[in-house]
Amino acid sequence: MKKDNCIFCKIANGEIPSKTLYEDEEFRVILDLGPATRGHALILPKEHYADLYELPEETACDVMKVAKKMAVKMRDRLGCEGLNLVQNNGDLAGQTVFHFHMHMIPRYAADGQKIGWKPGEPEEEELEEIRKALAD
Ligand code: 5GP
Ligand code: ZN
Repeated sequence: MKKDNCIFCKIANGEIPSKTLYEDEEFRVILDLGPATRGHALILPKEHYADLYELPEETACDVMKVAKKMAVKMRDRLGCEGLNLVQNNGDLAGQTVFHFHMHMIPRYAADGQKIGWKPGEPEEEELEEIRKALAD
C-alpha cells in the first residue's frame, strides 16, 4: 500500500524525481538531500511501512541485500573507508520521515561526522534483568 501525502511513497514510486542510485521492484535507493557525508543514501521500500515495526520480515531481509550491494559500490566507486547503516524508529530516536528508510552513510577520514553514543556503565544485575526481559 502507498500512503497519501507520504513524500517517500512518492519518491520511491517515481512520482517525485530523485537522485536514484538503484531501483528494483521492491526498492529505490536515493541520495539524501541533506547528506551527512558524500554519498549518503537512503534505501526506500516502494510500499509504505512507517517503521521497522511495520516492515514485513521478508522485506527487512531484502533491505540488507540491497545495503550489501550498495556498500560494495560505495567502497569501490566513492572510495569511502567506512560505512554506517543507521535506521531511526520514532520521534525519540530521530525519525523525521515516517516511511521506513535505511540510511547508508559512507565514511571518510576527517569527514567531520560523529555517529555514536556515550557508553553506559550498567551493573551486572541490570544487565541480567534486561537479559531476562528480552531472552526467550
Ligand atoms: P530520518 O531522520 O527520518 O531518519 O531521516 C530522514 C532523512 O530524509 C534525512 O536525512 C533527510 O535529509 C532526508 N530527506 C527528507 N526529505 C527528503 C527529500 O525530499 N528527498 C531526499 N532525497 N531526502 C530527504
Ligand atoms: Zn510512504
